[in-house]
Amino acid sequence: MRLSVITAFLAGTVLPIAAMILMGAGGTVKSPTGTAPDRYAYYPGTEDLDKDEIRLIACGTGLPAARRDQAATCFLAELGNGDKFLFDVGTGSMANVAALMIPYDFLDKVFLTHLHTDHWGDLATLWAGGWTAGRTKPLRVWGPKGATPDMGTAYAIENFLKAYNWDATTRNFVLSAEPGKISVTEFDYKAVNAVVYEENGVTIRSLPAIHAGDGPVSFILEYAGLKVVIGGDTFPNKWYIEHAANADLAIHETFLTPPDLVRLYGQSPGQAIAVGTQIHTSPQAFGKVMSKIKPRHAVGYHFFNEQATHDNILRGVLQTYTGPLSLAVDNMVWNITKEKITERMIVSPDQAWAVNGPNKPPKPPAKGSVPDPISDFIKAGRWQPAEQAQAPMVEKFKKEYGLQ
Ligand SMILES: [Zn+2]
Ligand SMILES: [Zn+2]
Repeated sequence: MRLSVITAFLAGTVLPIAAMILMGAGGTVKSPTGTAPDRYAYYPGTEDLDKDEIRLIACGTGLPAARRDQAATCFLAELGNGDKFLFDVGTGSMANVAALMIPYDFLDKVFLTHLHTDHWGDLATLWAGGWTAGRTKPLRVWGPKGATPDMGTAYAIENFLKAYNWDATTRNFVLSAEPGKISVTEFDYKAVNAVVYEENGVTIRSLPAIHAGDGPVSFILEYAGLKVVIGGDTFPNKWYIEHAANADLAIHETFLTPPDLVRLYGQSPGQAIAVGTQIHTSPQAFGKVMSKIKPRHAVGYHFFNEQATHDNILRGVLQTYTGPLSLAVDNMVWNITKEKITERMIVSPDQAWAVNGPNKPPKPPAKGSVPDPISDFIKAGRWQPAEQAQAPMVEKFKKEYGLQ
């Protein structure tokens, strides 16, 4: 963001609203021993959310190929009514979600824009990791149907659970099976601005997207008179132009420039121009979309964001759009109210632990109710000196906790 602001100055463009807020960051420090008024960072779990406020967190903004600095697509929306929604859980993104230290029971609702792994590859981590770390209920997943049943979300989840059968079967022996279930709500990917979720003052609608095959969608979340658009992968499309208009926060992909796809991503020039301008959205096209829909704040994502790529994309965007803009990286957060939209970075622990929620964990299965997944043959291979070595520690622990 700082670079965007500097470049925007150099380009003689209008100073974005968020930039004006950033320039006041830090406030005035009045005492050498007191606390500072503003550290220009968000420390998860330390701020109340106002009733009419949305906090939107980028937990993944990158590409299908792994990079430690940037996971693949994932946005978490936290609402003032307590609801939380994950939009995509791309590969690697759960590490950023986990660092927020939100109880897993609050992370049970997932909306998928499409079924490329960079948009749902970490569902496995949310599913099994959340199950072992305190989620007490099934996951709920919403996603588009496909042109044929085998290209839809229900098929994907059904076969996801089949693929992870060994994982579930072995956990079911020691944990309640309930949090390991996934309920799916499929909806028509061709439906325009159709309501796919409406509960508790929150409405989520879907729009068709144009990307790689039939099925992908974008989402519009409305809450407390605020509108946030979460654009999935797409070439700019007429549905987004019409229904994302006047959004408070409009997220839309902006892809690496074709020369950078050749230089950095190893693509041939033919591939680069097809991928960067037909299956995805070029920076110039992204800017044109934002100039047309005029959001209060625009967010571009879906590229490895480093100085050269950032600057090349920004130069492209500025040819067609000069309004408020974030070119997202992981752990960027926006607080959205009627009065203002602020962009900050998150400071969170690398070594996060799961946090208990308010619900009591469901009981593990009664002894004998679930078949033991370990056979007598395998059990007979236990090396007894190991049991003897740990026996005093085990005894002490059992005594301390009153275990048999
Ligand atoms: Zn995709
Ligand atoms: Zn993607």
